[in-house]
Amino acid sequence: MSPSRVTHPPDDARGEHFRVRIEGFGVGTWDLDLTTHELEWSETARTLLGIARDQPAAYDLFLSRLAPGDRARMESAIEHVVDHGGGFDVSFRVANASGLGRWIRARAGLIRDEAGAARHLSGIFLDVDEEKQVEEALRTRETHLRSILQTIPDAMIVIDGHGIIQLFSTAAERLFGWSEHEAIGQNVSILMPEPDRSRHDGYIARYRGTNDPHIIGIGRIVTGKRRDGTTFPMHLSIGEMQSGDEPYFTGFVRDLTEHQQTQARLQELQTELVHVSRLSAMGEMASALAHEINQPLAAISNYMKGSRRLLSGSNDPNIAKIESAMDRAAEQAVRAGQIIRRLRDFVARGESEKRVESLSKLIEEAGALGLAGAREQNVQLRFNLDPDADLVLADRVQIQQVLVNLFRNALEAMAQSPRRELVVTNTRVGDEMIEVKVSDTGSGFQDDVIPNLFQTFFTTKETGMGVGLSISRSIIEAHGGRMVAESNASSGATFRFTLPAADEN
Ligand code: ADP
Repeated sequence: MSPSRVTHPPDDARGEHFRVRIEGFGVGTWDLDLTTHELEWSETARTLLGIARDQPAAYDLFLSRLAPGDRARMESAIEHVVDHGGGFDVSFRVANASGLGRWIRARAGLIRDEAGAARHLSGIFLDVDEEKQVEEALRTRETHLRSILQTIPDAMIVIDGHGIIQLFSTAAERLFGWSEHEAIGQNVSILMPEPDRSRHDGYIARYRGTNDPHIIGIGRIVTGKRRDGTTFPMHLSIGEMQSGDEPYFTGFVRDLTEHQQTQARLQELQTELVHVSRLSAMGEMASALAHEINQPLAAISNYMKGSRRLLSGSNDPNIAKIESAMDRAAEQAVRAGQIIRRLRDFVARGESEKRVESLSKLIEEAGALGLAGAREQNVQLRFNLDPDADLVLADRVQIQQVLVNLFRNALEAMAQSPRRELVVTNTRVGDEMIEVKVSDTGSGFQDDVIPNLFQTFFTTKETGMGVGLSISRSIIEAHGGRMVAESNASSGATFRFTLPAADEN
């Protein structure tokens, strides 16, 4: 209803009826004389502006009722319509004592004289507060939605029932390489490789026809395609909504590349660790065996020497043969000892590869392996890692083996504890070394076990092997460090070991 040209003033009776009726519906009427700036307004207009009954209508009074920021806007809008013609349509807020009042919309048209000069601006005031509130609420929602779209870590894409992209989050831009601007309006199939790409419209049509969900509400791993044509594994979950009778689908996409790489990396680590543990366990066993067998071997060779001496006085014709046999037996005993020693050296030392490694990384990776299941056990993990004591010179796999072993032992020791906390810290000790400390709140040690902990085959567990700590200590010592255990003041155990610091400079 554009009041562009009304007869002014509405002096006939029907016009008056009409005015009274619209006034009754909350529409105020007004008229501004553009030459004199005299203003007339109806009762309703006056009420809408919040002006007292006894105040005479005046242009300045009208302006003074506008929110301060709206006054200049109002004046320039009037100037504009006077200079350029056209409709006048301005929404403004009424200022009231307690701040900003209701939203009013002013619409008007010019009334010209016979010569075509603009004489009056005549129109209506409408209360549009509710619409404005709704608009504002919508705008707030829109802002929220925007900020969600910008911040959710998963890529989020909304499509309509024809597969056309409606929303494209910031993470989606990063993941797929399309900007939001480019993506919106395109078919979502641009984000898929073949054969899904050409089948996707069919998937949607089938779902809309049968309501039989293949992926909606389920989520599955599919392949995504970036703008540059490369593809990647992704987890996709889809939700459906209905808006204005039209279906929309929201997809959440998580890039699995990193996840899969991590899994592969963990797998690799685990294999390496198992390998090294086997080797080390063998080494430990070989060394324990060597120790155990050396004594009987030494005894054998001593008995041989003694027997040989006893035989030296005999006249037996076979004596020469017997002597030589005994010499050879003694040699073999010595040889057996050497073989075992060599075996031990071979397996126990195993070439270690020392490189500059980041402790925090070693600890994190070892944590991923050794602390699997910790969360389910309600163990609180705290890695308080000092970045200034991070670089060490170490064999990655061996040190991880030490850490995994410490973590596993700690978890086992805490299985029955009411408080389960595992803290890992690192500190510099002196210029050359970095100390790693692993503390738990587990059962701790019985008084007399600490001196035995690091001995091969020492275990207090029913199914324990008792080789973990002894291997760990050998590994640390082979790195030039030291490893000790101690009881915590409150409860639980602390293991500390040192490694040579590797500074970048
Ligand atoms: P295993 O775990 O096979 O027994 P280890 O050499 O790793 O072999 O550990 C030897 C022993 O040290 C364990 O049996 C246990 O008694 C003790 N131990 C190791 N770690 C802890 C710990 N965090 N808390 C209490 N006792 C521990």
